Parts: sequence; structure tokens; C-alpha cells
Amino acid sequence: MPRIAVAGAGIGGLAAALALAEVGCAVDVYERAEALEAVGAGVQLSPNAAIVLRRLGVLDALGAAAVPSSEVRMRRARDGAVLARVPLGPAAEARYGAPFLSALRADLQAALLACAARRPAIALHLGRGIEGYDLRASGVALRFAGGTANADALVGADGIRSAVRRQGTGGDAPRASGRSAYRASVPREAADADAREPRSNLWLGPSAHLVHYPVDGGARINVVAIVDEGIAADGADPWSQPAEAAAVERRFAGWAAPARRLIAAAPGWRRWPLFDRPPLPRWSAGPVTLLGDAAHPMLPFLAQGAAQSIEDAAVLADSVSRSGGDFPAAFSTYEALRRPRTSRVQAQSARQGSIYHLGPPLSLARDFVLSTLGPARLAARVDWLYDAPAEVRRFAGP
Ligand SMILES: Cc1cc2nc3c(=O)[nH]c(=O)nc-3n(C[C@H](O)[C@H](O)[C@H](O)COP(=O)(O)OP(=O)(O)OC[C@H]3O[C@@H](n4cnc5c(N)ncnc54)[C@H](O)[C@@H]3O)c2cc1C
Repeated sequence: MPRIAVAGAGIGGLAAALALAEVGCAVDVYERAEALEAVGAGVQLSPNAAIVLRRLGVLDALGAAAVPSSEVRMRRARDGAVLARVPLGPAAEARYGAPFLSALRADLQAALLACAARRPAIALHLGRGIEGYDLRASGVALRFAGGTANADALVGADGIRSAVRRQGTGGDAPRASGRSAYRASVPREAADADAREPRSNLWLGPSAHLVHYPVDGGARINVVAIVDEGIAADGADPWSQPAEAAAVERRFAGWAAPARRLIAAAPGWRRWPLFDRPPLPRWSAGPVTLLGDAAHPMLPFLAQGAAQSIEDAAVLADSVSRSGGDFPAAFSTYEALRRPRTSRVQAQSARQGSIYHLGPPLSLARDFVLSTLGPARLAARVDWLYDAPAEVRRFAGP
């Protein structure tokens, strides 16, 4: 049985381990952290990711903890006017073959881990950060702080500051976007009835937008407030720090009452400065490749970072299963299939942030277009994203 090492037990690394085990590989997942903690409160799982998670058994493990979304509703910050509705629910399931779900990251991680624990071919090694690797005549030797290990191939799923990527590319740095996400989790009882509805809400205002959706079987509302802030002069913005509630409330003071009430109901906030990187010209070298944020970190404005890492996992496993044990060949097929799509999602995610944050007069034109498109044309505009491409469906099923 071929032995693959996966660096990183995030959503991408765990999905890759499950998919590779499914096609007959033994997988060692090496995770730097001593204990796995889910970072950030919620995650939206669009149908292109849900279709893969269903194939891996993860949707069953998630069960009712994941909330199916009936629509994406876009609203104007100033007065709460509804600008557009993208139908999801049964319409999306019929169109894309899988639901649009929202979940607590902790629940998604627990479901991925439960599925991995049921597979003897997967071994999870905590507290083992990969520092680098050496290519051998056949396979890879991994270097850790306290030792080495061998594998036939290595998948770097070690996030935006990937050590595997650094060795392969010579170390390009993540790019600060000048925007931050403030994240909170509001108990259902503290939220308006409207905010408890199973839909994904997107509010658009000048230099800021607000996203909220129920998670945890509806028991909590995940809130993400994204604002333009400029780039820290020393470039050393701290990653995920507690933030002042009063500062977030001040930033949204001119917004419609329902948005302000939800923000005021948050028991605490954390701030995440947002980074991305331009698309890489190459992900793979011989028996080493990249996956998820390590390969294509993106701004979260299309809610696709985790979803794309899950798509990666499906295409990686399918390419490995068709390669007859030739990992370099499998990885170059995987990369050729994945790079165009993920580069497009990276670019569109960055553009989307600028469109969301427009101020007058351009925001008036945007709002006019949104409010005249109608649900059918709005749904058609997200097909390219939510309809899993053929190479993902080869693994995930129709
Ligand atoms: C505000 C915000 C909201 C978002 N919302 C969504 C959303 O709704 N939907 C969506 O699809 N995406 C969303 N994303 C994006 C998503 O969170 C990421 O794209 C996704 O989690 C990336 O997963 P990953 O497994 O590639 O990387 P990570 O989650 O970063 O995991 C990397 C893992 O590797 C480990 N590691 C690091 N270095 C090493 C090493 N040297 N050796 C071993 N292990 C190592 C880390 O400890 C970590 O566990 C959002 C992101 C943000 C910031």
C-alpha cells in the first residue's frame, strides 16, 4: 500500500487524508499543534464542497449540526433594504446535487476526525511540525524538530504560512489585504427572529460588509464583520486577537437597526487581519505537492477557501487512483486540473471584496444591478462556483 504524508490537519489536510484512504493509500497526517482546536466560529459549505463531504461520509457525521441554508439574502447597510436573494435550499440541491450548509468549524473538524478514526489506514501524529523535506530516489524524507520519517509522497496542507510551500518556492510572503474580519458567535436567544432563519445574510456598506448565518443546529448565529482598515505599518499584524466590542459597534453605527442589534448581541469578538497570495505558477515538484491554503490562499469574500481545499482533496485522490502508483504523474495531473479553477476563485474573491465595499455613487449602480437581476439570473451567476466540476464529480459521484 503506498504511504502518503500529509502536512497539516486542517479542513484540507483531513479531507485529503480521507479521500486518499478511500482510494487505497495509507496516510500519515503530521500536525504541528499538540491539540487540534477549531479556529474561527463558522464555515459555509457550498454544494461543490458538500458533494465531496457526502461521499467521504462527513455529512452523515455532521448530521443536524450543519444547517441547510434556504437562500443568500443581500441587504443594503443604510436601511436594510433587501437587494437580492439567491435561492438555495431544495432548489440548490436539485441544481447542484448537494445542499448549501453552514456549520461550526468545531463540528466540521469533529466530523472529519470521526471519519478518519474509523479508517485504520489513517494515522494522525500531533505535535509533529514538518520543518522541511529531502527528495530521495524514491519518495521523500520528512524532517521534524525531533526526527525524520519517510513517505512515498508528501502533500503540504499546512496553511497560508506553509513550510512545504516555502521550501518549494523559496519563500514568498503572504500579502496583507488591508482588511480585517471580526468574528463572533451570538446565542440564538440573543438574536432577532429574522437572524435565526436558516439563510446566509450578506449586508453591503461602504468600506465594510457583514455576514451572518445560523450554525450549531441553529443554536448560535455566526457573525463576520469585514472592514477596510489599512495595513499595519510594521507589517506585523497579530493573527486572531481579541477585539473591543465598542470599536466594532462604532464601525457599524450608521447601519440599519437589525445589523446593529446583532452586532451589539455578540458576547465577544476576535479580529483576523486578512491575507492572500497571488496564484503560484507551480504547486508540485516530483512526489511533493500542495493543497488548500498552502497552494492557493484566498480572501474569504466568496466563502470558498475551505470549499476549494475539499475540492482539491477529491481531485488529488482521483488523480492518485488513476496513476498506477506514479505520484509525480498523479500530482502533475492534479495540479493541471486544479490550478485554473483555484486561480479564478482567488482572483474573483479579491474582486468581490472591492464590489462589496463600494461607496456612492458606484454602490448605487451595484445595488440597481443586484435588485434587477432576479433570482434565476442570480442563481445562474454562481453556477460556475457551486456546480462541482467534472473532475471533482469523478470522485464525488454525480
Ligand atoms: C474570516 C474568514 C471566514 C472564512 N469563511 C469561510 C467559509 O465560510 N467557507 C469556506 O469554504 N472557507 C472560509 N474561509 C477560508 C477557510 O477558513 C480556509 O481556506 C481553510 O480553513 C483552509 O484550510 P487548510 O486546511 O488549507 O489550512 P489551515 O486551516 O490553515 O490548516 C493548516 C494546518 O496545518 C498545520 N500546520 C501548519 N504548519 C505546519 C507544519 N509545518 N507541519 C505540520 N502542520 C502544520 C496548522 O496547525 C493547521 O492545523 C474563511 C476564512 C476566514 C479568514
